[in-house]
Order: sequence, then C-alpha cells, then structure tokens
Amino acid sequence: MKPSSSTEIVLKGISASPGICIGKAYLVDRGGVAVVDRYAISEKNVKNEVKRFKSAVQNAKQDLRAIIENSPAELQKANILETHVVLLNDKLLYGRTIEAIEKERVNAEWALKTVVNQIKAVFQEMPDPYLKERVSDIIHVSSLVMHNLMGAETESIGAIDKRVILVARDLSAADTSQINLERIKGFITDLGGKTSHTGIIARSLEIPAVVGLEQATRMVANDDIVIVDGTTGAVIVHPSEQTLMEYAERQASYERYRAVITRDSHLEARTPDGHRIDVMANIELPEEVVAVLNYGGDGIGLYRTEFQYLNRTSFPSENELFENYKDVIEVMAPRPVTFRTLDINGDKAMAIETGFSEDNPALGLRAIRYCLKRPAVFKTQLRAILRAAALGSVRIMFPMISIHFEICEAKRLLDEAAESLEKDGLPYKRDIPLGAMIEVPSAVVIADLLAREVDFFSIGTNDLIQFTLAIDRGNKQVAHLFQPLDPAVLRMLKRTADVAQENGITVGMCGEMANQPLYAPLLLGMGLHELSMNPQAIPVVKRMIRSIRIADTHAVVQDVLKQPTALKVLAVLRGAYGELVTNHRQALKD
Ligand code: PEP
Ligand code: MG
Repeated sequence: MKPSSSTEIVLKGISASPGICIGKAYLVDRGGVAVVDRYAISEKNVKNEVKRFKSAVQNAKQDLRAIIENSPAELQKANILETHVVLLNDKLLYGRTIEAIEKERVNAEWALKTVVNQIKAVFQEMPDPYLKERVSDIIHVSSLVMHNLMGAETESIGAIDKRVILVARDLSAADTSQINLERIKGFITDLGGKTSHTGIIARSLEIPAVVGLEQATRMVANDDIVIVDGTTGAVIVHPSEQTLMEYAERQASYERYRAVITRDSHLEARTPDGHRIDVMANIELPEEVVAVLNYGGDGIGLYRTEFQYLNRTSFPSENELFENYKDVIEVMAPRPVTFRTLDINGDKAMAIETGFSEDNPALGLRAIRYCLKRPAVFKTQLRAILRAAALGSVRIMFPMISIHFEICEAKRLLDEAAESLEKDGLPYKRDIPLGAMIEVPSAVVIADLLAREVDFFSIGTNDLIQFTLAIDRGNKQVAHLFQPLDPAVLRMLKRTADVAQENGITVGMCGEMANQPLYAPLLLGMGLHELSMNPQAIPVVKRMIRSIRIADTHAVVQDVLKQPTALKVLAVLRGAYGELVTNHRQALKD
C-alpha cells in the first residue's frame, strides 16, 4: 500500500552518490517479463530453440552496442557495458542455458530463468559484498535476453522528457548510461549497494543517488514529491513545507560548497613555507578518474587493480589489463598513476580460484604472497603494466610486503616480465619507480632493508593499524579500538618516515588516515611527501596543506609522540589545528 499523500515518510538507504535533489518521482517499470511459462520442446525442435536463444543473445548485444554508442564519453570509458557484452557470452549464462535447453528439452525462456536463479543462489552465498552485488550484472544482462526472447518492449530511460527523480527496483548499467543529465535529477532504487555499478555511475555523473532502500518502489507513486539526500542516504517522500524549506537550504549550501571546492581544487598544495605536497587519489575502477580530475588530484596514488579480477569467472588477459591501464594513464597524463599489484584474498576473495580455503584469510595466501605462488598470474599483470608504462607516467607498488625476500622476488619477476616483452618485440618501459607498501609491522621493523630495494614507501594504514593493534578492520565489535592515533601506530609511521629520509627515498600514505585534514600537519611534520585518498577528500586536505607551515608542525609532532593514548594525541592535534579545521568547514558552508 502506498502511503497517503499527506504523510511525510523518511526512508533510509545506502548513500551511493552525494548531493541533494528535490523533485517529482518517476517510477521505472521493469516488471514486464516476470511471468515465464515452461513448455516442452520436441527433440527435432531443440536445435531451433537453441537458435532462437542465440539470436536473442545477438539482439541483446546489438541493443547494448547501440546504448554504448549513444552514452556520454566518460561512461563509455567506464567499460561497464562492455563487461555486459562479454557476460552475454559467458559460459555460466550462455553455455548453461543452451545445455539446459538441450538436456531438459524446455523452452529458452524457462532454461534462462532456471540458470539465472541457480547463479543467483551461488552468488548470494558469497561472503564478499562486492561479489554478491555482481549478481545484479547477470540479472540485467539476462533480462535483456529475456525481453528479446519474449518480444517485450523495454521502457527507455533516454526517452523520458520531464525533469524527474527516477525510482526503480534496480537500474542496470545500460539504464543508467542512458540518463540525460538535463532531465534526470537523481535516482533511488530498492536494490544495490555502495560498490554496485549503478552507484559508481551515479558518482561519475555526479548526480545524487540512494540505493538499497528496499521499499522505495512500494512507498513512492508517480509524481510524488521526493527529496533525495545522497550524502546521508535519506529519502523523504511527500515532505512537509518545513522539511522542503530545510532541504532547499541544505541543497543551496551543498552547491555553494561544491562551487568553492571546484574553484580552488586545482590550486597546488603548497605550504606557506614553500613545501609542495602531492595530493593523490585512490581508485578502484577506471571510471573514477573523471572524479579525480574534477577534485584536483595530482595523480593516482593507489590504483587497487584487484577490482578487475573480482567479478569474473576467469583471469583477465594481458591485453584486457593493458587496455584498462592504458585508459587510466591516458586520462591522467601527465600526472602519475601508481599501480598496486594484485592485492587479492584476505578481505577481497576472488571468485576465480576456489581451490583452497583458509581458516584465517587475513594472515593467509594473499597479496604479494599469492602472486609469488602464482607467477604466471603475476607476470601477466606485470607485463600489462610495463607495456602501459611506455604510454605515460607509471609507478608500481607491491602490497603486504612482510619479508625482504618478497620484494626481491617481486623485482626478479618484474625483470623476467620485461625480458619476455623484449623477446616478443613489444614496446614497454622497465625503468619506473618501484615501491613497497608498508602495511605490516614487520615491514616497519625491516624498513631499512626494504628501503635499499625500492624508490618509495606507501603506508597502508588500513592494514597497518589492523596488524599493529590486532584489530580486524572489518569487525564492528572492535571498531572502537581501530585507532590511527594510537601511540603504537604513530611510532610505526615515524620510523617509516625516518628510514625513508635516511635512505633518500620518498614516503607517502594511501590508507584512510590520509583523508583527515586534522591529521595532515602531523603526517607532513613527520616527513611524508605524498597523501593519497578518496577523490572527494582531496580539496579539503589540499586546503589544509595550504594553511600550515611545516616549520610549525615539528613541535606538534614532538608533543604528540610523548602522549600515552590516542585521546591525548587527539587533544594535542585539536589544540594546535582544531580551529583551522573548523574554520575551513565553516568557510565551505557559508
Ligand atoms: C591499506 O591497507 O591501508 C591500503 C591502502 O590497502 P587496502 O585498503 O586496499 O587494503
Ligand atoms: Mg592494505
């Protein structure tokens, strides 16, 4: 039952793309092919049924290609729809549906529906939320085929001619790629999570979006007034006059904030006493580079390349990786791109290889350990990076280095990859900066040994805190103990920075700790040269850097290092820089 139009309702979902929009709801109906009948196919007609299925897949491909051609350039770069074209041919979907038609002698619609339900069940069991969400790609792709099989018409989002907010059970990447920014103010969906492609596309288009609302399509009717707060994940259905006024004010203040941010985000992060700091971005997928440029990133400080391996059933080929890397490098040029080699397993389990199970994956066969055990997988990636390096400014860093042998072995395999490219006569560049991620306490302890092997250190505080304090970074029960300012963590940072300086190599941070403007004086005071963070955090951190003198930070660092608890460290930082952070926040709001 939809609620009466006089009651204000607040729905809570997952914030997928920040910003506020207010407007009339437009419900997108995707229920057209829900009912599928089963009927038997005689033996002599099985071939024809398979043919009918194959031609529906061909038509679905053509539909996708037409959508790709008509979508904005930045979304074409995103490659999500290309992934869908590939999925159409996937053994899992394509092969098994044909098998079901042949073996069970059933109609193609029924075979497809059964196979999709089986795949759904398998994916739903997966502990990794990213993988869990990838099932939506398979559902979107199969519904395209189903529409073609049943001759049903799909409502085209590109044809909507009013200024509206889309409300849908789910939106496929093909749907969101058709969004016309002049018309669609934002969207809300029942399904989806933060890392779903729908959310990623909303962030690339920079329109507010809330996903995972569960009940939106039940609670909202066409033409209802809705407010979407993509920053907090709240959706208000038929808001009162007062709520409307309040949100109109919040919207104006957000737009002012965005205007100020974009105005000065391209200024360099130079302290008043002349130190230039590189403020870089962390990305998971190539399409995020647009946001990096918009927010004034000096380059990519961490490209989490493993995301390209997660949502699939076989390893990506060297060429596939190369094309992906090339895209990122070309868009970012001349700024540098730091490729973090495959940081797989642990909290990012792969669907591809299920040959082993581990009781304690956080301490298991992950990251560089996995790559050294699977040199063929590793070398494919290294070859792709070296080939891409010929096209721009590239750095490589190795994750989870915990012993000296690992960095030496990684370098040896890199040399082998270069030699094999030489033999194959392919263009590549071997002479590029190499780094070690410092994210395990043993790496801090042997930092002096590692420093002789690399050109830079990048501190991954997300794991370094986890392993230093023995706090599972994903466990809510101990989240209160996950403290970047804990004296044990700060001593780890200080030692890493000191060793880097003694050995004449650069040191940066790409863990979440780098996002916090209040921590910037402490990190720069310790001697860090580079901070890398999620793109949205860049302008605020740059602003902070432009307001602090490095010379003044040294006394604060000394004071901080004497404190026995994280709380006391926080008090020192707040005493020295808290007012500055508050003033910046205020200035951005006014
Ligand atoms: C880290 O551990 O701090 C890091 C940047 O790597 P990830 O979060 O990808 O493990
Ligand atoms: Mg890490």
